[in-house]
Order: sequence, then C-alpha cells, then structure tokens
Amino acid sequence: MPMPGTADGVNILGLLVFCIAFGLTLGSMGNKAKPLRDFFDCLNQAIMNLISIAIWYSPVGILFLVGGQILNMKDIKVIGLQLTMYCLTVLTGLAIHSFFTLPIIYVMVTRKNPFRFMFGLLEPLTTAFGTSSSNVTLPVSIYCLENNLNMDKRVTRFMIPVGATVTLDGTALYEAVATIFITQVYNMQLDVGQIIILSITATIAAVGATGIPQGGIVSMAIVLTSVGLPLESISFIITVDWMLDRFRTATNVLGDCIGVGVVNHLSRLELQSSSPAEECFVEDNN
Ligand code: ASP
Repeated sequence: MPMPGTADGVNILGLLVFCIAFGLTLGSMGNKAKPLRDFFDCLNQAIMNLISIAIWYSPVGILFLVGGQILNMKDIKVIGLQLTMYCLTVLTGLAIHSFFTLPIIYVMVTRKNPFRFMFGLLEPLTTAFGTSSSNVTLPVSIYCLENNLNMDKRVTRFMIPVGATVTLDGTALYEAVATIFITQVYNMQLDVGQIIILSITATIAAVGATGIPQGGIVSMAIVLTSVGLPLESISFIITVDWMLDRFRTATNVLGDCIGVGVVNHLSRLELQSSSPAEECFVEDNN
C-alpha cells in the first residue's frame, strides 16, 4: 500500500500544500500577479464548463458504476450492514461535532448559552438540510446572524462567504470516515500514523470542496488516491451520499455561524470603537 499522501508516484499532500502556499504568495503580490490570477480564473471557468457538460452524463455513469459493484459483491447483506454502520459513524461524528465540540468552543470564548445561539440559526440550518448547499444557505445565514442574533455586519459579511468556501468541517469529517470505511471494505489495514495523515489530507481536501450538493464527493477523489484506493471505490458510498450530504451541510453552516459568534465576541471592543453605535450591534443579548 502506498504511503498516505502519495499515489502512483504523485505526492498529493505535497501538491496541496504547494498550491495553498502558491495561492497565498500570488494574493500577497497585488497587481503584479494579476495576469496569473486572470489565467487561473479563466482556467477554472473553462474546467467548470467542462464539468457541467460531464455532469449531464453522470447519471448513466453512476448507474453502471453502482451496478458493476453490486454484481461484484459476494454478500449484499454484509455490504448493507457495513453501509449502515458507515452512515451511523458519520452521523455520530457530526452530532458530536455539532452538539459538543462547537458549543463548547462557543461557551469557552463567550460564556453564553450556545443553544440559545443555535436556536436563532434554525432557518439557515433547515435551509442547509433542505438544499445540501452551503452556498445557497449563505444569504439566509447572514440574515439570521444579523437580525436574530445581532452580529456585526462587518464580521458576518466577511466570515460567512469565506466559511462557506473553505471551512467545511462536516465535509472534512465525512471524507476521513468515508475513506477509512472504503479501506476496510478493501481489507486494507491502516496504522494510527496513517489514520492521522489521512485525517489531515481529508481536512485539506475539504478546503477545496465547493459548497454545492455533493461537492465533497469530488474532493474525496484526492483523499482516496492519497491512500492508493481506486477512484471507482467511491461507488460504495455514492448510494447513501444524498442523505449524509444534508447532515454534513448543516454542520458546515453551523460551524461557520459559531465562528462568527466567537469572532464577534472577541472583537467587540474594536468593532464598538470603529463605527457609529447605531450601525453596529456588537454585543449580542443572548
Ligand atoms: N454539500 C456540502 C456543502 O454545501 C459540501 C459537501 O458535499 O460536503 O457544504
């Protein structure tokens, strides 16, 4: 088995780190880097157009992919049981993250009731669940944070778009669990070190995932190849992905909103001193 982070001689982890560092450097170069930024914008647009053509044909491809896997299965009952355990693991992880980790961070920083804060977010959370898209939920999150929870506009309008693009914590969790599940289906043994590297790769790959329905499954390809698994192994999890996507999108949105609550609290003094009082509601009343 190749080392996690490398696949077929390609060092995926190194490539990801290089891309992030390269992007940051281009960003810091201002106008001098404009030609290269325009080039990458154009390349991105062309690839998106190409992908949207491919997506029209994807139902046919998925049908054959899943059909092929089902025909190859020796015992459908066993794989059904494994899939149920996989779903339960992802859902338990998301529940722990949403109801323990994030609220604990919120309480530790703000000393306020996190569940009252979460109650004010019911609308974006249900929108995320219904649409499976952090991007579609973006305006609803901003509206509720500003109107229900009195968060400062300067924090929400900066953090929510950035969060919807790069902070997909539910997706990172799901990608790590899904890859470990697939390695188990293929009877591959991962040691603790490999699981840690896998989790780091999943987190970095989730940064590259888009906030659209099943956007995470695309970046899963990076994680799978990093442990030397074939791409068609995605077909094991594709059948249940529509359902898990709803839960992980709600977690992604919750993570972004809790982040706003924390930053709003930490920067309340700067926010108060740098704008007219009627324009910003710095301290929330929850
Ligand atoms: N649908 C998720 C989101 O929009 C991304 C994913 O597929 O994990 O946040």
